[in-house]
Amino acid sequence: MTSPFDGLEPKLLFSYFEKLTQIPRCSKNEAGVIEYLLGLAKEKGLEADRDQAGNVVIRLPASPGKESAPTVILQGHMDMVGEKDSDSPHDFAKDPIPVKREGEHLTAEGTTLGADNGVGLAAALALIDDSDAVHGPLELLFTVDEETGLTGAQAISADFLQGRTLLNLDSEEEGAIYVGCAGGADTHITLPLKRSGRDGERLGVKVSGLKGGHSGLDINTGRANAVKVLALFLDRLRARTGLGLVNIAGGDKHNAIPREATAEIVLDSGGRAAADEVLARFRQDLQACYGKSDPDIVVELGAGGGDTPVLDQPSRDRLLDLLLAAPHGVLAMSQQVAGLVETSTNLAVVRTEADAATIMESSRSSVAPALAEVQGGLFALARLAGGRPEDAGGYPGWQPNMDSAVLARAREVHRKVTGREAEIKAIHAGLECGIIGEKFGGMDMISFGPQIEWPHSPSERVHIGSVGRFYEFLKALLAELSG
Ligand SMILES: [Zn+2]
Repeated sequence: MTSPFDGLEPKLLFSYFEKLTQIPRCSKNEAGVIEYLLGLAKEKGLEADRDQAGNVVIRLPASPGKESAPTVILQGHMDMVGEKDSDSPHDFAKDPIPVKREGEHLTAEGTTLGADNGVGLAAALALIDDSDAVHGPLELLFTVDEETGLTGAQAISADFLQGRTLLNLDSEEEGAIYVGCAGGADTHITLPLKRSGRDGERLGVKVSGLKGGHSGLDINTGRANAVKVLALFLDRLRARTGLGLVNIAGGDKHNAIPREATAEIVLDSGGRAAADEVLARFRQDLQACYGKSDPDIVVELGAGGGDTPVLDQPSRDRLLDLLLAAPHGVLAMSQQVAGLVETSTNLAVVRTEADAATIMESSRSSVAPALAEVQGGLFALARLAGGRPEDAGGYPGWQPNMDSAVLARAREVHRKVTGREAEIKAIHAGLECGIIGEKFGGMDMISFGPQIEWPHSPSERVHIGSVGRFYEFLKALLAELSG
């Protein structure tokens, strides 16, 4: 039987990647790959450490004559996202990834491939055996649990690493060098509610058909937020009908733009006709605002049920006003990197219980004080509404440093190796560099990688030719940094 890896170059790199695809390594199930990495270090006679969280560092001595060069850290995450097609029999806990070749790409049969970040790891490991490679002392850092909250990077202790130059091998675009990422902060608001008895016609409102998307990477699309759309509609009903509000629910994940939201309402007799009129006008206005980004938005008014008492009027107004005033979308563009969203916030989730509503906002920024400012504003808004704000956790960003020494040398090497300028980019989402940069003062970092498409999905694939070019660039950069 022929292997999909037959004949692939660089051979060393692909043989390590093949090995990694045979070891189950979904997030929080990294024991096998930790053991493999430590075993490999031992077999090669290299010093290695693992910390409490499971992060591994393998120390690779400098090539001859380069012993006094500064230590460089090569970093990737050993976990992968396990996603498969609904009809795939694959068991991520024990099966090897069913890798296949498709033209110029490697992909997997019905599952994620784990090229994110397996190819990055394999590149670092290939250097162990690569007699051509010229480099100073290297620390090969492999973190756990990147994909479900960056907890591996968060657990690294300050004495785990000596180097102060870090090459993160976890980005997915050939020809690009990443120099920044966003930090995140979640804010929970609890708003006390009171209810009272009231009769009338019970109706349900449903907002659906929105595109949604990732709250960082897609926030610049201007797509509609279902919670906002619902609040806008209820606000118009309030103005025309003496709306009774029972419950609101919308959104479910902090990192997704809400695609659906629902409300239970009560209208006085005769209110329904007015509500239908309001709805007809509202639909037209939605088309004017979101006809392009979300052409399929549906707002429906249907029969309701249940007997939960309605919110009293002050509670209704505080909740609706809070949702109307809560920010959503892009708040600032980067002054350093053209086209990069610097700061944004996602009105992510709203739920009502018997005596309180909970609202979650998930904010991001590549500039730490800007992120703090957004969260401060949300706290202020919560207090104005009579609610209780709470910091629900977050992680630091990585502010682009266009004067970085490693960036300047990487651009130079990129020009020499490829004949083209590298694109300098930043990402409006979390990367481990943000956390590592905060822990290790003065860490000079960049991130790059091969061309990987549709990571985190069963369509994930890596361009084979780009892997070779990525490795050549890495080697050329290491040689430059050791000189
Ligand atoms: Zn990754």
